[in-house]
Amino acid sequence: DQKRKQRGSVSVFNEALHAEIKIEQKQCERLRTAIENGELSVFYQPIIDVNTNTVFTVEALLRWKCEDDYISPAVFIPLAERSGLMPEIGAWVLNRALIDLSHWSFGNEISMSVNVSVAQMLDDGFSKILDSALKSTQIAPTQLHLEITESVFAIDKKLIGERVSELVDRNVKISIDDFGTGYSSLSRLQSIPFDFIKIDRSFIQNRTEESDTIIRATILMAKEFGCKTIAEGIETAEQKAHVSALGADYLQGFYYAKPMDANNLISWYNENY
Ligand code: C2E
Ligand code: MG
Ligand code: MG
Ligand code: MG
Repeated sequence: DQKRKQRGSVSVFNEALHAEIKIEQKQCERLRTAIENGELSVFYQPIIDVNTNTVFTVEALLRWKCEDDYISPAVFIPLAERSGLMPEIGAWVLNRALIDLSHWSFGNEISMSVNVSVAQMLDDGFSKILDSALKSTQIAPTQLHLEITESVFAIDKKLIGERVSELVDRNVKISIDDFGTGYSSLSRLQSIPFDFIKIDRSFIQNRTEESDTIIRATILMAKEFGCKTIAEGIETAEQKAHVSALGADYLQGFYYAKPMDANNLISWYNENY
């Protein structure tokens, strides 16, 4: 009887797994057609220089418009990573973002920040993709910031190290994204020649004495390394005042602007600067 019960639960488990795999395959198929049908687009969110109050850079943020809804990248990027579509999608984002920057009248005054996923960092075709995007748009490499989430540095040290040195050779800037939330260690990060640290918005939005201490320590560490800090998720005037007083160099958040499509970004820029 015990045996039969076990067998029963195994087959229930198998069925559940099978159903999950089917859903995953379906979602992958949807994503594949989304790419083909042009349902993906890139939005841009300004990052402001605290000292000059001007736009320092804009972050390119991927959007998937599905029927009349936007599906969050937090949902479909993990799917794209698992299904092997991410290198292709990432290359598309990089090209789109640099093409847009090259068209903007204020494009020379700002830089472009593009997120790079784990799959892209592990892909040995990445530097070729990077070279061709820079070449075809004539954007200076120093005008491109690649945002790499901290947790990427927790995986394969050798591979990631090789990729990082390719980026350094090309003179693009490196930002550590979501700093303080990943599973990386400071000893790992010490070998990464980063230019910017992005302080995760959780430290700004759930403010405690401890989170303030972490922000202060992060800013101090960045200064010692000769790097700049960007604080994410600034939604209120209080947060802005508070985080600038703690010494962050650049601020990003809904307080300044939400991510916008290219046309809205241009209007926003012209209205404000
Ligand atoms: P991230 O790189 O940390 O990007 C910042 C996220 O915070 C964006 O979410 C942005 O819309 C949101 N945000 C900005 N200011 C505020 C604020 O004041 N309050 C709140 N609550 N949120 C704010 P989004 O666009 O949904 O993107 C989520 C994540 O998806 C990104 O986090 C990034 O990890 C990933 N992602 C987005 N686009 C790409 C891409 O093209 N490639 C890769 N690899 N990842 C991407
Ligand atoms: Mg980012
Ligand atoms: Mg971030
Ligand atoms: Mg984040």
